[in-house]
Amino acid sequence: MNSFLESANCSLTTEYGNFTLHGFRDKRSGLEHAALSLGELSTTKPVLTRLHSECLTGDVFHSLHCDCGEQLQAALELIEAEGCGVLLYLRQEGRGIGLLNKIRAYKLQQKGADTVDANRMLGLPDDARDYGVAAEMLASLGVTNVRLMTNNPAKIKGLMEHGIRVEERMPLEVARQARNAAYLDTKAARMGHLVASVEVTSTQSATSSNSTTDLLDPR
Ligand SMILES: [Zn+2]
Repeated sequence: MNSFLESANCSLTTEYGNFTLHGFRDKRSGLEHAALSLGELSTTKPVLTRLHSECLTGDVFHSLHCDCGEQLQAALELIEAEGCGVLLYLRQEGRGIGLLNKIRAYKLQQKGADTVDANRMLGLPDDARDYGVAAEMLASLGVTNVRLMTNNPAKIKGLMEHGIRVEERMPLEVARQARNAAYLDTKAARMGHLVASVEVTSTQSATSSNSTTDLLDPR
């Protein structure tokens, strides 16, 4: 076990299956994170994996502003269907800026700013998330090779920089709706997310492919 991580686990029966719930406390940040695992996490075969960053509004309140809650549900359903996999629930609310700053950014978005500009108007980074602790959590679960469910190249890069081999990317897309369309478009156009239903301009074409192989070395 990584000396920076304190952990505990128990079984947790959910509507998606009988998972093992792993709690982790990062002694450096004081943050507590969670992982839900199903089945035997092999160290040789790539494990179906999702990194989910906490989104109180989407995950708990089922806000229609973003796609987080639906992505969380879809990832757990895919793990259940596979019979094996792991979902990390990372406590980095609002792409790492915290709940209050996220609420301030939402207020600006309600006045017309997009999600990137709103953060910048508040003097905050577009995305403050760090995937180092996610890599450490996976390693402590014995997972070194993954098939990652994500549309976000930054997650692939973040894991690979911290020693986790991303063998394959599996797109995780939710239904595009009028309420979340602008948010999905902004994530694709300004943050490099790979969303098939979104048109991107030629300046973003280098990151717009949905092929999996072009992501394995995302430098
Ligand atoms: Zn969200």
